[in-house]
Amino acid sequence: MNIQDGMVVGMHYTLKNYAGDTLDTSKGQDPMVFLYGFGNIIEGLEKAMAGKAVGDAFHVTVEPEDGYGVRDDALQQSIARRDFEGIDDIQVGMRFQAETEDGPIPIRVVAIEDDKITVDGNHELAGERLHFSVSIESVREAEAEEIQHGHVHGPGGHHH
Ligand code: ZN
Repeated sequence: MNIQDGMVVGMHYTLKNYAGDTLDTSKGQDPMVFLYGFGNIIEGLEKAMAGKAVGDAFHVTVEPEDGYGVRDDALQQSIARRDFEGIDDIQVGMRFQAETEDGPIPIRVVAIEDDKITVDGNHELAGERLHFSVSIESVREAEAEEIQHGHVHGPGGHHH
């Protein structure tokens, strides 16, 4: 069975950045299971997987445009400490939801200097060229309800 839209794929993967540091891996855990063709994983990886079957293993390089996007410097801003209402202990790495004109976006604190807090709304991997090593562990047809919901049910997926 070859991977195409509407199939449930189980994969093992290791993600490295351009410098070769491992950022994430499924090794030592169950394979990551997802519904293929519904944008549940980044586009560049999904594209590279088309037509693959159980037992296939491959490497793929994903450019930022097909990954977590390019960095947008406008998403990095300095905010006065007093604007973090009700939060006394702000630390680098903390994550918040920021209310913006375009709706809430996730931001994280990247620097603190006296009363100036720098936050970044870019995805942590924005602008990164990514390397994936992938092995396909399972492929099955999705249930109609999974297609309707756009995600996998059962082991490794949603339970509801
Ligand atoms: Zn569902």
